[in-house]
Amino acid sequence: MEKTPFSRFIELIKFDQSHGSLEKELEVVTTLLDTVQDQLADYEHEYEKERFFVQSLRKEVDAQELEMRSLDEKEKVSRERSALASSTREYQSFKKECDQFKQQQHEHEEVLLAAWSTFEQAQKLFKAKEDAYKEKRSAFQHEVDAQEEKKQALLTSLVDHEDLRKTHIVDVPAEWLEKYNRMRNVISNPVVALIAGTCGGCSFTLTQQIIMALEQNKLVQCSGCYRLMYKNFDQTQNSAHSS
Ligand SMILES: [Zn+2]
Repeated sequence: MEKTPFSRFIELIKFDQSHGSLEKELEVVTTLLDTVQDQLADYEHEYEKERFFVQSLRKEVDAQELEMRSLDEKEKVSRERSALASSTREYQSFKKECDQFKQQQHEHEEVLLAAWSTFEQAQKLFKAKEDAYKEKRSAFQHEVDAQEEKKQALLTSLVDHEDLRKTHIVDVPAEWLEKYNRMRNVISNPVVALIAGTCGGCSFTLTQQIIMALEQNKLVQCSGCYRLMYKNFDQTQNSAHSS
């Protein structure tokens, strides 16, 4: 059967509705992808923070070790000088200095041990978490990859769809296309059916004259909502995509 411009137009609308569902799906996937990527970034940030904390504790240990070596050195120099003292008085003076360094070494030993202990504890905790971190991070990455793949597939479908649409526009009167395109940018269901003498989009009660035009399969624009109306539009499909 030869297709009329009207039936071609209806086909175009239905085609666009399936296109709309692809766009919605793409929107959902894009949002999901952004969310998972944000979560992954937060997770990595937390992980880096902990790693940095353990590193800073290690640096603290190094600093205290350095301080300890410096005290050792001072004590050693002082001891050597006391051995070379030329008088009892000089010797006692060096001896006193040497004892002071020994006392400082002794006190610093506590500080150094505490720094080591804090570092080791933190390192142990971090190591225990590390495997769980790696596993979770890889799960996140996996999810990101899966959504990215879906997104690319949808984008390809949309491009294919756009090409296919060109074949649906053929033979549809320019005036209908123009009205339809204008409506399509504003609302999701620019074409509606006639429902019990009213517009299927806004329930505007139609005049007998308009109903008669619709009976003749004419395309009429609703004066209530400016949607395009016609009689035998598949409303179930229409509402499924416009909701
Ligand atoms: Zn209306």
